Amino acid sequence: MSAPEKSKQNKPETADAPKKSITGKIFNIQHFCVDDGPGIRTTVFLKGCPLRCAWCHNPEGLSSETQLMFYAEKCVSCGKCAVLCPNKAHTVTEDGRHLLDRTKCTACGICAENCFYGALEIAGREITAEEAVEEVMKDEPFYTDGGGVTLSGGEPLFQADFTAEILRLCKQKGLHTCVETSGFAKREQFEKVLRYTDMLLFDIKETDGELHKKFTGVGLEQIMDNLRLADSCDRVKTVLRLPSVPGYNLRPEHFEAVAELAGGLKNVIEIHIEPYHPLGVEKYGNLGLDPPCKDKNFADKAELEKIREHMQLLTDVPIKIN
Ligand code: SF4
Ligand code: SF4
Repeated sequence: MSAPEKSKQNKPETADAPKKSITGKIFNIQHFCVDDGPGIRTTVFLKGCPLRCAWCHNPEGLSSETQLMFYAEKCVSCGKCAVLCPNKAHTVTEDGRHLLDRTKCTACGICAENCFYGALEIAGREITAEEAVEEVMKDEPFYTDGGGVTLSGGEPLFQADFTAEILRLCKQKGLHTCVETSGFAKREQFEKVLRYTDMLLFDIKETDGELHKKFTGVGLEQIMDNLRLADSCDRVKTVLRLPSVPGYNLRPEHFEAVAELAGGLKNVIEIHIEPYHPLGVEKYGNLGLDPPCKDKNFADKAELEKIREHMQLLTDVPIKIN
């Protein structure tokens, strides 16, 4: 080891030494959310997810890269973007068609800032944990009924250090903290986040390992290990969330297995059946992607109610349809 490194290593840490800000990438901060945990909440959506669930309704959270979204129905073909783009990614043809060559786009955001019709939007921005918390604290007066902050995505565990830092700062300010997660992360990453989490909104997408891999691209083992780890920590309460998607996981055996799973855990306080909705299908197109699940129908609530009733016979944990 060289001399300068040695002296740096031996330098005593002081309590008031400025802590370096942790930066991460988000694609939205949504205010006044009522479905992302108890009370009224502010939800921070983080970029990047290691899963590829066929039914994902937040496809702008999948990639960790900043992306340009294009809403064709809002475009009036004014041509401003074609003039301003430094990479000539936009073209407006003589017959008024707007064309976007995404291979040329570096997501600089110039076109989105200058499109007066809202046809272009950038998904993804760098932000420090402090800046995220400052935004969350604007809603503090509304958190009195058990509300607080929820981190969602994407997958918050994908940026575990950033997620943990936002949660730590929120806990310092006395906020209730929720993390909406697939549970897929290395144990060390999960532990970092768990330390500052009051409640997990933990997705159980499939209980059959092979089907889980087929539908999401990853196995179940790590997810179940992390679920058990969370459950061993009595301070953390867990809501199991079941995305319920026709043509994928609406199998009676799956729901029965979730009931059995919940019965073996001590800190699961509720099970939520989350009916499939097709609102993400359009968003894939806005990103220039092909949706893996093209079903544009909403899930049949009557069918899900029957599933709920059957499940409720198998477990004491309250089950509701969201
Ligand atoms: S600036 Fe907006 S409205 Fe004008 S052509 Fe570009 S995308 Fe369409
Ligand atoms: S985000 Fe930048 S590079 Fe991409 S199309 Fe718009 S102006 Fe061009």
